[in-house]
Formats: sequence, C-alpha cells, structure tokens
Amino acid sequence: MAGIDKYELLSDLAKRRGFFWPSFEIYGGVSGYIDLGPLGSKLKRNLEERWLKFFVHRHGFVTITSPVINPEKIFIASGHIEHFKDLIVSCRNCNRHFRADQVITEAMPGRADIATEAMTAKEIDQFVEENHIRCPECGGSLTQSEHFSTMFRTNIGPYGDLLGYGRPEAAQGIFVDFKRVYEVCRERLPIGIAQIGTVMRNEISPRQGPIRLREFTIMELEFFFDPDEPGCEFMERVGNVELPLLLGEERERGSSKIIRLLAPEAAARGYVRNEWSAYFMAVSVEFANSLGIPFEKQRFEEKLVTERSHYSTQTFDHQVWLDRWGWVEIAGHAYRTNFDLSAHIKYSGVDLSIFKPYPTPVEKKVTVVIPNETALGPLLREKTQSVVESLVSAKPEEIRKAFAESGYFEVQGFRVLPSHVRFEERHVRETGKRVVPHVVEPSFGAERIAYATLEHAYTRVSDRVVLRLPIDLAPVQMMVFPLMTKDGLAEVASDVASFLLEQDFDVEYDASGTIGRRYARADEIGVPISITVDYQSLKDGTVTLRDRDTWRQVRNEWRNIPDLMRGFLRGKLAFSELGKSVEVAYE
Ligand code: AMP
Repeated sequence: MAGIDKYELLSDLAKRRGFFWPSFEIYGGVSGYIDLGPLGSKLKRNLEERWLKFFVHRHGFVTITSPVINPEKIFIASGHIEHFKDLIVSCRNCNRHFRADQVITEAMPGRADIATEAMTAKEIDQFVEENHIRCPECGGSLTQSEHFSTMFRTNIGPYGDLLGYGRPEAAQGIFVDFKRVYEVCRERLPIGIAQIGTVMRNEISPRQGPIRLREFTIMELEFFFDPDEPGCEFMERVGNVELPLLLGEERERGSSKIIRLLAPEAAARGYVRNEWSAYFMAVSVEFANSLGIPFEKQRFEEKLVTERSHYSTQTFDHQVWLDRWGWVEIAGHAYRTNFDLSAHIKYSGVDLSIFKPYPTPVEKKVTVVIPNETALGPLLREKTQSVVESLVSAKPEEIRKAFAESGYFEVQGFRVLPSHVRFEERHVRETGKRVVPHVVEPSFGAERIAYATLEHAYTRVSDRVVLRLPIDLAPVQMMVFPLMTKDGLAEVASDVASFLLEQDFDVEYDASGTIGRRYARADEIGVPISITVDYQSLKDGTVTLRDRDTWRQVRNEWRNIPDLMRGFLRGKLAFSELGKSVEVAYE
C-alpha cells in the first residue's frame, strides 16, 4: 500500500464496482468527464436528497429547474463573459496547457502561503521565471500566462444567429426567474430558491478525477432577503455549531491559523459579515458531518479580495481534507448582495425590485419641486416639457444648494433661477418601500462531495475494504443471500429480496461465490445490512442480519425486516435491536 493514496484505491474500487469511471472510455476518454455507474448514480441521488433536506425543505424553501444553455445576454449581464476566466500557461515543447496557479502549486508542494489564485498574470510570469518552474509533464519551458474563458460556447438554433453558453452556475436561472417565483410563492421575503442541475466549465487541464470536471451537478441555494432586516430567524438552531475559520487576515500574513467560533458569534463579531451566511455555513458543517466527514477535516477558508468572484463581497470556501490533494473546496458560501438582480434590472430593463409593505403606513413630510411653467415656457419653448420633468425628479435639496452656491441650477444646459420654481412641503402616507433583495449563496458540487464522502468512508479492516458510508446514504441498503443455492434456499432468498424491493428498499440479491466472499463484496460497496437465508429459514421464516460495521449477526423473521430497517435507517433502532443476537454463524 505504501505510495498508493486513497484516490488510487478508490478509483480502482469505483471502476470495478460501479461508482464512477472516465467517460467515453472505449474511445480513450476525455479528461474532465466521468460517468457515474449504478452505485455512483444512486449515491449522488441520495446526496442530492440529503442536501435538499438540509438546505431547502427544512426551511420551507422552494426549487426551480431552468435551462443549461442560456443566451449570451444572460452572461453579459451577470458579468461571466467578462470575468469567468482562468490564467493559462502552455509548454513550448509539448504544447500542453495548464492552469497557471496549479502549475505553481504543484511545483511548490507544502507552500500553502502562496495564494496562487490571487496572482495577476504579471505576478504569475514573474514567479514562474524566478522559481524556474517548468512544464510538469515534460520539463519544457513555459509561455507567458494569458486569460482563457472557461465558458462553453455554442449556437442556439440552426443558423447560429443566437450565441449561447453552457451555464457555469445554476444561480443565474434563479436570478432571472426571481420575480416570477416571488409572485407564485405569495410574495414572501425572505425566500430561498434552490436549483440542482448540470453546469459546464471548460476547465483548462483537469487531472483530478471527480474533483475537477468539465460538466458536473451543482446544488445551489440563493437566499433573498431585505438588507434592512438582515437577522437570521433560524440562528438558534445552530447555536452550538462551531465554524473553523481560516480568516483572510491570517492568510495575508502567511498563517493558516484556524479560529473556532460558534456560528452566532462568528456573525456577531463580524468575521462572517452576514448572519444568514454564518447560518448556512453552520448547516454546511452539519451536512458534511452527516456525510461522515469528520469535523477536524473541515475548515472555512475566507477568500481574499483578489480571489473572490466578481459578484461577491465576502466568500468562505468550505474545504475538506482529501488524501491526495489536501484541502479541497466542497462548497462556496458567497454574499452576493444585490449584484446579480441589479445587473439583470439594468440589462433587461425589467424592474425586479419588490414592494415591501410596512406593517403600518408611515406618515412623511416631503418637499416637492413645482416648476413655474408660465415663466419657463416662453424661454424654453419645445424643451419646456423635458426640463420640467427633470426638475420634478431632481432632489429638492440639490436645487436649493445650487441656488445658494451659484444662484442657479443647471438643467440640460439651461440655467433655472429661483423665480422659475417653488418648493412645497407636503404630507404623504407611505405604505411600503421598494427593495432589491440581497442574496447569500451556498453552492455545492455533487460529484466532488460524493467523492469526499467515499474517501472518508473508505477503511480497511484486516485485509478487507469496508466502505463505512452513513447507513442512510448507502446506494444499496440490503443484500440478500441464500447460504447455498440448493435445497430451495435460493428461491426463498429471492422471495425475500422481492418482498423488500416492493417495500421500496434498495436491495440486491447475490448468490455467487462463497458466503464469505459475498459479505466481503457487500462491505466493499458499503451495504449496511446483509441478510442470509439458511436452513433454519426454511423451518421458521427467520433470517440472519449482519452488520457491516461490527460484523455481528442477529436473527429475526424476514417479514419484520421492513419496519425494523426503517427504524435502523432513521437511527431510531440500534443494530442490536434488530433481532436476537446469534453467534456469527458464517463469515
Ligand atoms: P464555485 O462556484 O466555483 O464556488 O463552485 C461551487 C462548487 O462546485 C464547489 O464548491 C465545488 O464543490 C464544485 N465545483 C466547482 N468546480 C468544479 C469542477 N470543475 N468539478 C467538480 N466540481 C466543481
């Protein structure tokens, strides 16, 4: 095992047993693409369900589904066309291309202090030159870095008249649909809108299996709230959850010191600038814990200004420790303010602000400007109307200030004098206000999280692999075996399997090889319970249930299994409560 890391072990297992493998395998594959096999697909679906439970259903939030290919306009407005780029360097000898920051990270192992993502093109070039960094594949010299758009471009329709892009995030679909979702959800704010779906990123040289893909599933929640009421109503729920923070100020000092703060405290002390972000970061910890990723293997790295996406005012990456790559981001927590909604308001010309009524109307005294049209008309003629409109919408205090300072207020090149307007104080009743909501976003990649879950589940007991997946996440919940394939045992075992399948469990029947090998195969793919039909089953309808994690066995009637398993999978029943303990009959 020396020298073989978990990635290699897992990739081998994943291919052999059907979690994942390279796409287009029979044609030699294309890096950055993986296919999920029968087990991988189920694991991913279970993960998505779990994510929905933690981030969406519990809060009464909603989901939408919007297209993967979007017209160019969407990404011009969102700023992705301008900003969604990586720096690339190429090898002069073998012509391979690399992400500039990764070439440096790989060439400088153990130098966590170099914030490569934050470097400008010039800094990258200088660093590569000073440190004599060469092509990681052939040792050739590297070109200067240049920007490369990681958006996939295509044409919509047969004549290429409409340029389209594969979405790099699902969020834009949510922003574009915000007003409609807000209306169909009976106009409530705050509101969380989530989307799980395919995204595409033309990564430069992905060589990290399921960690860096060119097409993956994103699980994104956009949480919209009124910036004047930023308090999080659910904060108490996570009052005891600690956030391990690696703050930007520490990173700037070259330190990787972690401070642990309870979620409410992290927000109250201003480290996490928004209460809702701190809340979702705590839910993120609970989510990762529930996947079996130990708390000590998690941290939140605050991104530096130069590393942040263009739409974010503060971002924390939720990172987990992986054997081969060290700290890897599984989720980004970004405070997007009203950047995206404002951009879409500007580019679409549609008002996406909402009207928020006050609990009770507010009486206000306001000053209004009343132009003296009789005086202005002869002076302005056909321009009168437009100057009058400008005066009415100008701020009265600015007009007054201009009069005080220069004696006139200039509108469209015309000097408006104090005799041309009068000011009037009026009482108005305001019933509400218009708000462009602010947004915090937790964003997760399903495949990357599935991989992290698998890696942390991977254990060895003696010479066996046991995949200790959380029992309610396992793609196969039960395996059913006949002890022998003769004497009618196989028929009963097959009936038991069908009975459990009809009760909506994920069950497989396996009759090949010795019972010991079948248990080993079940352990290797993380099946929590293996059920064996033996000679006693023929007499009294009981079967043995074997626990993946302790290899202990109990006996019970197979007709009782559905109720027992429901309790077990929900964590309400311990394994020892599933039946009468028996000596391990066969192993
Ligand atoms: P980002 O919008 O870059 O913060 O990405 C959100 C999440 O998507 C990350 O936390 C990862 O879990 C996942 N992710 C990002 N890029 C990739 C990729 N190339 N392949 C697989 N997952 C990714």
